[in-house]
Amino acid sequence: MPNLQQRDPFAVWWNGRAREAGFENAEALAAAFALPRYRLAQIYRAATKELAPGYDAITVLPADLRERLRTALKWSSLVVEREATSKDGQTTKFLFALADGKEVEAVLMRHRGGRTTACISSQAGCALKCDFCATGQGGFFRNMTALEIFDQAVHVARRARQEKLSLTNLVFMGMGEPFLNYDAVMDSVALLNDGQGFNLGARHITISTAGVVTGIERFAGEGIQINLAISLHAPDDTLRTSLMPINKKWPIATLVGAVKSYVAATNRKVFYEYLMLAGVNDRPEDARQLADLLGGPLHHVNLIPYNATDAPYRCADPATMRRFQSILRERGVPSTIRHTMGDDIAAACGQLRVESSRKESKAASA
Ligand code: SAH
Repeated sequence: MPNLQQRDPFAVWWNGRAREAGFENAEALAAAFALPRYRLAQIYRAATKELAPGYDAITVLPADLRERLRTALKWSSLVVEREATSKDGQTTKFLFALADGKEVEAVLMRHRGGRTTACISSQAGCALKCDFCATGQGGFFRNMTALEIFDQAVHVARRARQEKLSLTNLVFMGMGEPFLNYDAVMDSVALLNDGQGFNLGARHITISTAGVVTGIERFAGEGIQINLAISLHAPDDTLRTSLMPINKKWPIATLVGAVKSYVAATNRKVFYEYLMLAGVNDRPEDARQLADLLGGPLHHVNLIPYNATDAPYRCADPATMRRFQSILRERGVPSTIRHTMGDDIAAACGQLRVESSRKESKAASA
């Protein structure tokens, strides 16, 4: 199993493009088009570093080659089906179609402090069936390829550039469970991180997992500076299992134990995500139990306002969230209350796809 240092982004990109066009690999493609290595490098650079809109824009290539490439090779694995921007202008959500028609989502977030974050998907659908999550309700379709994952970031970065913004951060918090598509996700990270290409620093990338312990263990051995976030959402097994069925396989003690080993091995801070669900996990005793669980160095809790979906949950009110936070603070657990972004455009995980299929079924029944 290769670790990140051994993953070659250039090869990932070209092998991916070749396979999409029906070739066995990059070598077969390069032979068919008589492309020397420097041409491959020019194209890779245009796509990943310069964020060119298409083959036609690569003016260093002869016109006839551009034409041949345009008709034979994809420039992106994704087609944009929908784009929606929140009223406050901070959040833009994209619904993409993959080649087989499966839909995935990404989000561009313009933060007040100047950061610009892309949130991207790692799978079409999700198998984990978290009770509060719109993606989970829709079921699992398939893993995304490294190039499909990466092309979301390229699209979001190109869109941001129209406003003279450049991406500063990227999170794997869209559809899917990154650690159940481990190799493709790590290959996409190699692409994101490539100094000759997209060039987003590892410390600006965060992978969020629902608690796939085997993935956390493997990730601890990568020797990279990517941030790790754990979707915890409940301080005890009964509640967590009712919200997140994955907790049956890897209960809290196992999960937190794996995270502590990760911290010990890497000396890196871990972020625990905790959705604030009114009357479900937002009581003072939940905060106390959470604090007891998380003792030790290098952890931070993000308290996340819940974006309403069809699931029967509401977001905790602001006063409850502040009280929850103060209990954590008294017990020495650092935390941040995240502010909601894009709730008017259904920016919660999987919601745009749900809206889109709802519109389709309306159209079909009309
Ligand atoms: N499977 C991974 C990554 C995708 S979900 C994981 O579970 O971490 C990214 C984050 O969005 C998770 O913390 C998830 O619990 C949260 N989330 C899902 N639905 C949400 C909603 N309606 N409102 C706010 N956050 C939500």
